[in-house]
Amino acid sequence: MPRLSIVALLFFVAAAGKSNSPPAYDLTVTIEPDAGSIAVRGTVDVPLESPAATTFKFNLHDSVTITKLLVDGKRATFTFGTVESPFPMPASRGIVVALPAGAGQNRVRMEIEYSGRLKVLPEFGATEDMLHSMDDQVNSRMVELSPLSSWYPQFGFVQPLQVELALSLPQGWISICSGKKLEERIQDGRALTRWSSPKDTAIMILASPNYKKKSLREAGVNIDIYYTRMPEAFIAQEGTQIAGATNLYSTLLGETNIPAGTIKHIYSPKRKGQGKAGMALPGMIVTSEGLTMEALSQDPKFTMFQWIAHEIAHYWWNFGAGQGDWINEAFAEYYSAIAVQKLSSQAEFQAVMADYRKQAGELPAEAPPLATVPIMEPTSFVVRYYKGSLMLDAVRQLMGDAKFFQASREFFQEYTGKPTGTPEFRTFWNARMRDHKDLVDAWLDSHGGPPARN
Ligand SMILES: [Zn+2]
Repeated sequence: MPRLSIVALLFFVAAAGKSNSPPAYDLTVTIEPDAGSIAVRGTVDVPLESPAATTFKFNLHDSVTITKLLVDGKRATFTFGTVESPFPMPASRGIVVALPAGAGQNRVRMEIEYSGRLKVLPEFGATEDMLHSMDDQVNSRMVELSPLSSWYPQFGFVQPLQVELALSLPQGWISICSGKKLEERIQDGRALTRWSSPKDTAIMILASPNYKKKSLREAGVNIDIYYTRMPEAFIAQEGTQIAGATNLYSTLLGETNIPAGTIKHIYSPKRKGQGKAGMALPGMIVTSEGLTMEALSQDPKFTMFQWIAHEIAHYWWNFGAGQGDWINEAFAEYYSAIAVQKLSSQAEFQAVMADYRKQAGELPAEAPPLATVPIMEPTSFVVRYYKGSLMLDAVRQLMGDAKFFQASREFFQEYTGKPTGTPEFRTFWNARMRDHKDLVDAWLDSHGGPPARN
C-alpha cells in the first residue's frame, strides 16, 4: 500500500514567505524519441535566496551534460550537490552554481544548455522497488517528462513558476504540455509547438505519435481528452463526468481558476505508473493508460469517476501548504465522494464512506494525528485522505448540508491562494462548530483511527 500519491503536491502553490516573483523559464526543448534523448537550451530568471547569496542550487536529471551555463551573461562554475526533494528522485542530482562577480543580488538570469539520453528506469509500479522507479520516459513509443525526474532546472519540488516553452519533435508526433498551446507547425520534418503557462507549479511534456483527441465543451468547461487506445464509449462517458463534477463544485464553492480555461485529461500510453487517476497539475490530469485498460479488461463497467472527481476537486482544494497538504487531500477526497453522492447515487456514496471507515478503522493506534501527519509515511495516505474525509463527513452531519457547504465555500474563498496549515483549519472550523466545539480538535489530535464518540 505504499502508493506514492503525489497529486496535490504538484498543485499547491507554496509561496510562503517568498516576496520575490517565481522563477521564469523560456526553454527550447528538442526531443529525439528513437534515440531516447533530449536537448534543452534557454534562459531561467532565478530568484536568489538573499541579496548575500553566493550560490544558487537546482535539481537536474543526472544523465544530461551541461554544455553552457552563463549567469547574467558571465560564465559561471558549478559543482554537484545533493538532491532536495520530499520524494525519491532516482535520476536527479543537485547542481550548485557559484554566482560570478557582478551578478544581480535579487534575481539573476541563467542561460543554460544541456543534453543527454534520459536514464531508463522501470516504470513506477512495474517493480517492488519504488525508490528506483520513474514515470518519465523517452522512447519511440512515447514521451513523458514530468517534474519527477527534474528534466528542467528545478528550484524546489513544487513552487510557483512561469514558463514559455518551444518543443520540437519528429513530424507526426502529437504533444501536450503545461499551459496553453500558442502555435503548432511543421518545419523541416519536425513538429514544432509553442506553449505558455504564466501561473504554474511544474513543467510537463507528453507526446506520442498515436494520440487521439476528443474535445468537448459542456456547461462552460472546455475539456480535451487525449488517449491512444481507450474505447470511445469510455472517453465519451468521461467527458460527461468531468463536466458534471466541475459544475457541481462551481455551484457549491464558487468559481476557481482553471488555467487556459481548459481541463486536459491525458492517458499517457505507459503500462504502469502512478495509480488511480495519476497526477494533477494546473489544467492537466495525467493518468496511466495501461493501468486503466487493465482495469477495464477486468471489469467492463470500470469507471474512474471518483478518482477524476478527486483531481478536479484540486482545482479548488490546493492551498494547504507543507504539513497542511492533508487539507488538500481530505477536501479533494471528500468532495469526490460528494460528487458520487450527487451525480451517481446515495448507495455508492454509502459504499465509499464505508470503505473509508474500514480503512481508517484499521489504522494502528500509534498512527500520527491529522494535526501532525507527515506527507510520506506508511499510514499517511489513510490518515490524510480517509480519516480526513471522515472528519469532514462528521462535521457535515452535525452542521447539516446547507451550513456545511456554505462554510466550505467560505473556507475556500478565504484561504484560496494563501498557504494554509492545520492551525488555520482548526481556527476556522472550530468557530463554526458552536455546540460541538471539541469535535474538530478530537479529530485533528487523535492518534490512530477515528476518535471515540462521546
Ligand atoms: Zn489529491
